[in-house]
Amino acid sequence: MSEQGRPTTAITGRCHCGNIAFDLEWRGDPREIPARACSCAFCAKHGGVWTSHPGSRLRVTVLDPDLVTPYQFGTRTATFHVCARCGVTPVVTCEIDGRLYSVVNVNAFENVDAVCLRRAPASFEGEDVDSRIARRKRNWIGDVAFGDAR
Ligand SMILES: [Zn+2]
Repeated sequence: MSEQGRPTTAITGRCHCGNIAFDLEWRGDPREIPARACSCAFCAKHGGVWTSHPGSRLRVTVLDPDLVTPYQFGTRTATFHVCARCGVTPVVTCEIDGRLYSVVNVNAFENVDAVCLRRAPASFEGEDVDSRIARRKRNWIGDVAFGDAR
């Protein structure tokens, strides 16, 4: 079956306290979800494990935006959305040409069987900014919106 013809899988996720929640319409194979354990200094400290699929659709709902801390480092091209109440980072975004791209933290998933996660280490060290942006444009979730629940 082609990627386009495949029905999407509804994946939900949230930080521990529920302030940041997401609905992900996953267009990849639901039994083979890549889970990239990033080796950058932030993800090493947070245990960040990320996934994305370019044909998928992500809707993020924030209950209290005052309790979301945007965090950037290094090239400052990506924003980590850290819940200020519970410390979990469910979503990372990157704005490219006015469009929002995203990866989500598989550890924040609520309804995915762990056997479907294909965990593998990933290192993007040494990548220059241009190839980093090009890779995100290619691989990250390309349909992303944030909603305020209030
Ligand atoms: Zn939280």
